[in-house]
Amino acid sequence: MQATLGPGATRRLLKRLRDMMAAAGTAQQRLDRIVKIIADDLIAEVCSVYVMRAGQVLELFATEGLNPDAVHKTRLRVGEGLVGEIAQTARTLALADAQSHPNFAYRPETGEEIFHSMLGVPILRGGRAMGVLAIQNRTFRDYAEEEVEALQTVAMVLAELVASGELVSPDEMLRTEDAGLVASERIDAQRLNEGIAIGTIVLHQPRVSILRMVADDPAAEKKRLREAAQGMRSDIERIFADSGLAAGDERWEILETYRMFAEDRGWLQRIADAIDTGLTAEAAVQKVQEDNRARLAQVSDPYIRERVADFDDLANRLVRHLTGDKTAAARTDLPDDMILVARNLGPAELLEYDRRKLKGVALEEGSTTAHVAIIAHALDLPMVGHAQGLLARVEAGDPAIVDAVGGQIILRPREDVRDTFAAALRARAERRAGYAALKDLPAVTRDGTPVSLNMNAGLVIDLEHLAESGADGIGLYRTEIPFMIRSTMPDVVEQTDLYRRILDRADGKPVVFRTLDIGGDKLLPYLDAAPQENPAMGVRAIRLTLDRPAILREQVRGLLRAAGGRRLDIMFPMVAEVAEFDAARDLLDIEIAREAKRGRVLPDPIRVGVMLEVPALYWQLPQLAKRVDFVSVGSNDLMQFMFAADRGNPDVSERYDPLSPGMLGFLRAIARECDGAEIPLTLCGDMAAHPLEAMALLGIGYRRLSMPFPAIGPIKAMVRALDLPPLAKYLEELCRLADRSVRKKLADFARDHNIPV
Ligand code: PEP
Ligand code: MG
Repeated sequence: MQATLGPGATRRLLKRLRDMMAAAGTAQQRLDRIVKIIADDLIAEVCSVYVMRAGQVLELFATEGLNPDAVHKTRLRVGEGLVGEIAQTARTLALADAQSHPNFAYRPETGEEIFHSMLGVPILRGGRAMGVLAIQNRTFRDYAEEEVEALQTVAMVLAELVASGELVSPDEMLRTEDAGLVASERIDAQRLNEGIAIGTIVLHQPRVSILRMVADDPAAEKKRLREAAQGMRSDIERIFADSGLAAGDERWEILETYRMFAEDRGWLQRIADAIDTGLTAEAAVQKVQEDNRARLAQVSDPYIRERVADFDDLANRLVRHLTGDKTAAARTDLPDDMILVARNLGPAELLEYDRRKLKGVALEEGSTTAHVAIIAHALDLPMVGHAQGLLARVEAGDPAIVDAVGGQIILRPREDVRDTFAAALRARAERRAGYAALKDLPAVTRDGTPVSLNMNAGLVIDLEHLAESGADGIGLYRTEIPFMIRSTMPDVVEQTDLYRRILDRADGKPVVFRTLDIGGDKLLPYLDAAPQENPAMGVRAIRLTLDRPAILREQVRGLLRAAGGRRLDIMFPMVAEVAEFDAARDLLDIEIAREAKRGRVLPDPIRVGVMLEVPALYWQLPQLAKRVDFVSVGSNDLMQFMFAADRGNPDVSERYDPLSPGMLGFLRAIARECDGAEIPLTLCGDMAAHPLEAMALLGIGYRRLSMPFPAIGPIKAMVRALDLPPLAKYLEELCRLADRSVRKKLADFARDHNIPV
C-alpha cells in the first residue's frame, strides 16, 4: 500500500510531532511515541531512530516494529551497514530490496530479516549527521518521492530533539571530542590546487543554526522568506561592488552566474511550497537544499553537480539572513593561520575570506573543475577535496595540515609530523625565493644552449604570473576554461574583449591560443552533447568544432579582431590527420577574408599550428610541415593514447612512465622530424612541468617547453645547471633499453652532475 502525502498531510504529521515533542515525559518516552506516529503515518511496519554516540557509533534508540530488546543494544559504526552509510554520506537511501545492497549488515537481534524495503534519512545538524531515521516494510516497496520528502522533513524536526542533549549527554560527546583532540587522523583527499598549509581549522558553517523547524503561520514565514531573499540579493550586489572586478574577468562571470541563480523563481517557489508543509522559512530552505543535493547526486554531468555547490552557497546565505547567524567569514576573531573546512564551498564564499589569514582549504566534496578550485588556483591557495568523512571528524580549532601535494589532510597532527611538514613548507618558500632570484636570468644550459620556457594559462588572472615568473610567453592558452565557467556561450563581442585583454596583459609576449578543446569530460552546460562511452576518444576538440563550424568560426573571428595589428598564434587541438588541419585552416581563411573585406586591420603575423597529441599525426609530419608554422606536443593526451591508458583513471594513469624508452623514443622521433622540416616545436603537457622529465626532453632535442607558472623557476634552475651533450649521448643509450622506465637512471645522472631535479 502506498501513502499519498500532500503538503497538508505532512503539515498534520509535523504538528503531531511537535505536540509530541513538547509533551511531558522523558526524551526517551517522547522518542518512543514519535516512532509509532511516523510508522503509522507513513504506513511502514518499522520506524527506527539511531542516535550518534561518542566514538562515531550509531545506537538504536527507539523502534516501532523491530525487536524492542535490540533498543540500546544494536550499534553500528559510521560507515557500517546501510544506517552507517547514511550517516557517513549524509544522504538518503531508498531501497526496495535493501538486503541485496552490498553494504547491508544483518543484525540478528533486531529481527529485521523479514523486512525487505527500507527508506533511511540522515538526521542532520550543520551538515553533520547526528543520527539516522529509517522506515522499513515487508514488501519490496518503492518509496514515492513525497514519502522520501516527508521523512526528510520529519528528520529535520527530530534533529531538534537529538541536539537538545536529552538523549545523549553533551558531556559524553565532549569527552570524545577531547579524545579526538589527541588522536591524529589522516584522510585521503584529492588535490584541487597544489601546495601545503599548516594551521587551525575554521568551520565555514558554524554548527547548530536552525532552532525552529515547525511554524503555524505559512503567510508570515513566506514574508520572512521574501525579506531574506532580498537581503541575499543585496549581499551578492555588495560582493560584486567590493570585488573591484570588471565584466570579462572570470570571477565576474562566476558572480554573474550567482546573480542568475539568486533570481531563480523555481528555487524560491519550491521553498515556498515547503513552507506550506508546515516548516519555518529557514527549515524550508534547508529542506529544498537537501532535496537538491539528493537529486543532483545522481546526475553525472559534472557541470550540474558543481552547481549544487553554488546553490548551497546561496541557500546558506538565505538561512543566515533568516536566523541572523553569521558565517565564519563575517567573524572578526579568525586565526591568522586559517584552514577552512566545508562540505562544499561556493566561489563567492571563498572570496569573502581575508586572503592573508587563509592558508588552505579542505572540502568534503568539491572537484578539480569546480568554480571554487579555479578561484583557489588563481589565489595560489592550497586546496584538497573529496575528503570523505572530513566534517564528522573535525572540530573548529583543531590543528591541521592540508597536504595538497601528497593528497591528504592530517587532523591534529603529531608534533613530529607537523615539524616535517613545517620543514617542507619552509623549503618550498626558500625554493620559491631562490627561483624568484632566477627570474631575470636567461634559461641557458651550461654549454650555451638557449631554452624557451613558457607558461600555460586559462584565466585572465593567470596573466599576472607572466611577468612575475619570467616566462617567455604563454605557450598554451586553454580557451575552453573561460567557456566552462559560464552559463551561456560567449558571443563574438565577448570573446573579442576577453582575448584582447589577454593580449594586452601579455604586454607583447606571445600567447598561443588553443581553440576550444571541449567534449570528452570538459562539457559546456549550454552545448548539449550526447553521452559518449569513451569521451576522451569521442567527439571532442577539433572534431567537435569541425562538426559545428559556427563555433570555431566565431572563435577565430574573436581572435582575429582582438589581435588586429599585432601577432596572433592559433593552435588546433587533437588533430589526428592533415585533412583535419586543412579543414580548420579553411575556416580560418574564410574568416580572414571576411575581416579583410570589411576593412578590419588583421593580425600580423598570423601563425597557425597544431597540437600533436594523437600518435597518428606523427606519420604525416612531412605533409604537415608545409602547412603549419609550429607544432606543440600535448604529452598528457599523447601519453594516454600511446599506452591506451585513460589519463583520468587513477588505476591506469600512473601505470606507465613517460620516462620509458618507448615514450622517449617516440618523442625523440617527433623532435627529429620537426627539426629536419624546420618546424618550431614546443611541448606543453605536464611532462614539461617536472624537472627530471623536462631534463629528458632537453636531452632528446626539445628546446621550447610550456608549463604551469609555478614550475618555471624549478625548470630554469635545472636548465642552468645542465650540460647538454653528455645527457644527449646518455639518452641515446637509454632509449635502446628494454627497461620499463629509465627514471632512476636519469635521476642518478642528475645527482652525479649536480642538476637540481
Ligand atoms: C595535453 O594533452 O598534453 C595538453 C596540454 O592538453 P590538455 O591537457 O588541455 O588536454
Ligand atoms: Mg590535450
